[in-house]
Amino acid sequence: MGIAQRYERTLKEVHETCEAAGRDARSVRLIAVSKTVGEAGVRAALEAGARDFGENRPDQIVPKSAAFPQATWHFIGNIQSRRIPEIVASATLIHSLFQLRHAEKIDAAAARLNKVQDVLIEVNVSGEESKSGCKPKEAYALVAACAALEHVRVRGLMTMAPQGDAQVARACFERLAQLEADIRAQLAPEDAAAFNELSMGMSEDWREAVYAGATMIRVGRAIFSDDFE
Ligand SMILES: *Cc1c(COP(=O)(O)O)cnc(C)c1O
Repeated sequence: MGIAQRYERTLKEVHETCEAAGRDARSVRLIAVSKTVGEAGVRAALEAGARDFGENRPDQIVPKSAAFPQATWHFIGNIQSRRIPEIVASATLIHSLFQLRHAEKIDAAAARLNKVQDVLIEVNVSGEESKSGCKPKEAYALVAACAALEHVRVRGLMTMAPQGDAQVARACFERLAQLEADIRAQLAPEDAAAFNELSMGMSEDWREAVYAGATMIRVGRAIFSDDFE
């Protein structure tokens, strides 16, 4: 099986899972996380119909988004202050924001490019030390502070679940969905209207995420790796 077949198989499974979960298939976006492949890999997925791609390093998102401007590029990795201008120039959506000082730098970089940068707030729901993200109880304050920035628009929340146990992952995703609903209820109507994305679920656990309400799943190995078959 190649990349195109694995992409098509994954997309079909996403549609089947949506149906089983009683959800509209169009309500979940499949983001192909292309961080382990080069431009040929991206092209193979594009030709199979992929439109959304995720990258976790500026060194990757900058050239790939330039080579494939017809795709939508998502930045899902660690944010370093000095790389923010490049990330903002390349990414349609930044999934991994959890520090206000970075939000302020994103705001400034977006202002210079005359754009409004869409972002998600990454939340460390599980509390694992290896995971990045703000604490669940800090998320509302961060969303509210970002909402005050003119060139930043907060579109929702993102998390990564602990690996290895589907039930633990599902509980983690359900907590993120509940947190998003709680935050939305506290936002001003104009901010609440745009605050509707939940980025959660990867190759091992995207099904649990779809059941819990994910609107974006970030899938790498199941599409790009041949040891995931
Ligand atoms: C690599 C990565 C993914 C994709 O993980 P797979 O297990 O390969 O599907 C998703 N989200 C983030 C933040 C990643 O770094």
